[in-house]
Amino acid sequence: MGASGRERLVPPLCLNASQGYWTNLLRVRKTGVLSRHRHPQAVHGFVLKGRWRYLEHDWEATEGSYVYEPPGETHTLYVPEDVEEMITYFTVNGLMYYTDPWGKGTGFEDVFTKIDMCRAHYTAVGLGEDYVDQFIR
Ligand code: FE
Repeated sequence: MGASGRERLVPPLCLNASQGYWTNLLRVRKTGVLSRHRHPQAVHGFVLKGRWRYLEHDWEATEGSYVYEPPGETHTLYVPEDVEEMITYFTVNGLMYYTDPWGKGTGFEDVFTKIDMCRAHYTAVGLGEDYVDQFIR
């Protein structure tokens, strides 16, 4: 998911191809940074464990708090060094548009690239590419 290092692939919860969004649990062990990105549509998050912040903002997302990412927002998710594990439930509408520091696009992820990524993963671990079908709506 565009993260450098510590992010673990946990099963998706819903890959909604018919409406163009997905929900997942983002889990980061130890410190980690999720690459700078922009969303054209709203993102909703709820912090289940640990805490994190965006390098672009001075507030912190703490355990039990709700996070709203408005359309057009560019940010870089950072998990502080003293956090053992962070788990946040996210609903991502549309896509993650990864950018360089000047806002130029460097790549993207949408529900379809997520489905492809899951198919490749489940094939690689021996569950078969159809394993992802249970998460697709
Ligand atoms: Fe985001």
